[in-house]
Amino acid sequence: MNRPYNFSAGPAVLPEAVLQQAAAEMLDWHGSGMSVMEMSHRGRHFEQICDEAEADLRELLSIPDDYAVLFLQGGGLGENAIAPMNLIGLRAAHAADYVLSGSWSVKSCAEARRYGDVAVAATAEQAAVVDGAQQGPWTYMPDPASWRVRPQASYLHLCSNETIGGVEFMDWPDLAALGAPDTALTVDASSHILSRPMDVRRAGLIYAGAQKNIGPAGLTIVIVRKDLLGHALPICPSAFDYTIVAKERSRFNTPPTYAIYIAGLVFKWLKQQGGVAAMEAANVAKAGLLYDYLDGSSFYRNPVHRPVRSRMNVPFMLRDDALNAPFLQAAEAAHLLQLKGHKSVGGMRASIYNAMSIEGVRALVDFMKEFERSHG
Ligand code: PMP
Repeated sequence: MNRPYNFSAGPAVLPEAVLQQAAAEMLDWHGSGMSVMEMSHRGRHFEQICDEAEADLRELLSIPDDYAVLFLQGGGLGENAIAPMNLIGLRAAHAADYVLSGSWSVKSCAEARRYGDVAVAATAEQAAVVDGAQQGPWTYMPDPASWRVRPQASYLHLCSNETIGGVEFMDWPDLAALGAPDTALTVDASSHILSRPMDVRRAGLIYAGAQKNIGPAGLTIVIVRKDLLGHALPICPSAFDYTIVAKERSRFNTPPTYAIYIAGLVFKWLKQQGGVAAMEAANVAKAGLLYDYLDGSSFYRNPVHRPVRSRMNVPFMLRDDALNAPFLQAAEAAHLLQLKGHKSVGGMRASIYNAMSIEGVRALVDFMKEFERSHG
């Protein structure tokens, strides 16, 4: 079956091999006589599924043993509350600092204000000249050297890939060098986790909703350094207390079992592809193809400062907004789905996660060329 190319920002395309395996195992997982959806989360079959998923994720991201891996619910926005409830009490000041780089980090910061003394460490809210180029709001990353991290802050929060603005930032700073050696870096990596190697050691906490690069919605991955555990606020629900969930190996209550199973299949698929280093090479090639074309065209444009352009989410505008609707209609007819940009940015957005093939990106670029030729 020839499926269309799906550029959704999330829930997003999954590897076809994974969907096929899930379909084949739907009625009877490995001779158990049950669908994974029908199994006890405490039985031996699911225990195997969950343990393998965790082991494979640890291998893929080289997660050190002194970090816990949790399979939670609540998504990225849930973590905007769950992370502060778990971490803000680490230090007596109950303070947390936020770097604002786009919609998602702005939301994270606003939510955290409910739990303690929250300050903005840096923001890309204003237009600015960056490396000699004029940049609009939310199209660049404030230089870490300018971040104001309070030494008493329990953690500093960063969204390392802004899914809407298309800004990706991988130079996670060493907070000791910024004068805050006891502040834990907290990273929302929802929309680029597993797309490239990540230095887990740089962060105290990494979280990600699964529905972009991992699997179905409903599962949230949390990777947390174990020495940060044990400080949850008294109001933190037990089911979201990292310490309790870690102790119960993600089975304090019923986890999203089917989503964990699919995530586990995706992890095995990633290992077969050569792991995150191989994914990175593929993602560099895919993103390069699209950005090179955008940069060479006067019909389309991407506004993001080049060094922080996302490899996963590529927003682009057409020269004339009146062409947006015909573009989307023609794209769909050409089997290129879900290219509409986020309403706050407008234009288009192509999300090209791990499961998007280079052939898909080529098909998109070919379509864009043809559309430019016929409407330019
Ligand atoms: N953070 C980022 C970077 C995201 O892209 C999203 C979803 N697009 C969220 C948080 C919110 O995730 P959820 O809908 O799972 O709460």
